[in-house]
Amino acid sequence: MLDDNCLFCKIIEGVIPSTKVYEDEYCYAFNDINPQAPVHVIVVPKTHIASALEINDSNSLYVAKCFEAVKKIADSLGLEGFRVINNCGEDGGQTVMHLHFHILGGKKLSEKIV
Ligand code: AMP
Ligand code: ZN
Repeated sequence: MLDDNCLFCKIIEGVIPSTKVYEDEYCYAFNDINPQAPVHVIVVPKTHIASALEINDSNSLYVAKCFEAVKKIADSLGLEGFRVINNCGEDGGQTVMHLHFHILGGKKLSEKIV
């Protein structure tokens, strides 16, 4: 179920343009408009889940599929290693309220938060 008022739902629907990196039945991946690394891909479930706090029994398959997609994307881009980030909620720095995973890579990442 998509939400007409959500930026990433509009990207999934193609109402707002994006540079597609990967797509299947459950998820869509596109280049971040403001990349923080040579590779910066956003992976989103093709159903509106506002944040990681909204993951539950009825939608968790979409989340698992997003992580299967992460591997496929990393393989297709030839990434040796990468970082996956989810920002959750206002204090977590989340600005778009549709669950998404950042894939950062394409260089040796130096700064570690965890
Ligand atoms: P977050 O801060 O974790 O919510 O991440 C939101 C991300 O979405 C940011 O890295 C933005 O650069 C990215 N973003 C916002 N609008 C667009 C867009 N139209 N196309 C691609 N990426 C976007
Ligand atoms: Zn959405």
